[in-house]
Amino acid sequence: MKPKKKVFITGASGGIGSSICDIFLSKGYELIITSSSSAKLQLLKEKYGNNNYYFDLDLSDSKSIIECMTKISYEHKDISVIINNAGITEDNLILRMKPEQWESVINTNLNSNYYIIKSLLPNMIANRYGKIIGISSVVATTGNPGQSNYVSSKSGLIGFYKSIAHEVAKRNINVNVISPGFIETKMTDSLNEKQKDDIMKKIPMQKLGKPIDVANLVYFLSTDQSSYITGQNLNVNGGMLMF
Ligand code: NAP
Repeated sequence: MKPKKKVFITGASGGIGSSICDIFLSKGYELIITSSSSAKLQLLKEKYGNNNYYFDLDLSDSKSIIECMTKISYEHKDISVIINNAGITEDNLILRMKPEQWESVINTNLNSNYYIIKSLLPNMIANRYGKIIGISSVVATTGNPGQSNYVSSKSGLIGFYKSIAHEVAKRNINVNVISPGFIETKMTDSLNEKQKDDIMKKIPMQKLGKPIDVANLVYFLSTDQSSYITGQNLNVNGGMLMF
């Protein structure tokens, strides 16, 4: 029997992350799941059971990432898919934005990707196979008032992934980013009615996306059906941004 493929996923407890976990489980993968909360990790264990792997990992803290990723890269040399999905917002207009708000968003959403990819990539290179997928956002391209920290982290991610895609293109490793528009999750639950109405006016399809709309593309990018796609930023946004 062929060994099961392993997928590494951050932000598995969130809206998009849980949909990604469900789709990979249904395709027979073993999940390597991380969370910054022991309580949520426990809930994830109860949900997905003992045949998967769970790690406490605070993406805002580089020391925690280095420690945890050293262990994961040693114990799981056969990870074939990396999905850097976790992300946070801490919105404020630039004149009011505190250094801590800037730093926590950049650390969690962007710097974490550097540490994770740097630690798992050598195994992928040795295995001569890998798929690396990052989750950015439509606002990385458009900008968004009150989100200069979030937008910087998400557009930085696109440039970072394109550079890595160049570096590993000859090694059978694909590196891509997905930019969701507005998706129904906890992140968008906090929008008020006026904000939701304003957003709806900009979406030709006149509806928010579902986590599965993003998860389906993540899965496609992890298969060999997408083997000639690399260095791309793929949009899932109901037509909100067309270019
Ligand atoms: P969500 O439901 O709020 O989930 C966010 C996830 O990030 C949680 O699972 C959380 O896990 C994890 N996380 C937060 N801080 C962390 C930390 N310090 N260390 C480790 N993990 C941390 O958000 P979502 O909507 O599913 O978003 C998933 C991704 O899509 C994010 O990168 C987001 O920016 C992007 N995105 C979302 C939308 C949207 O409309 N929803 C649009 C564009 C882009 P724990 O609490 O378990 O640690």
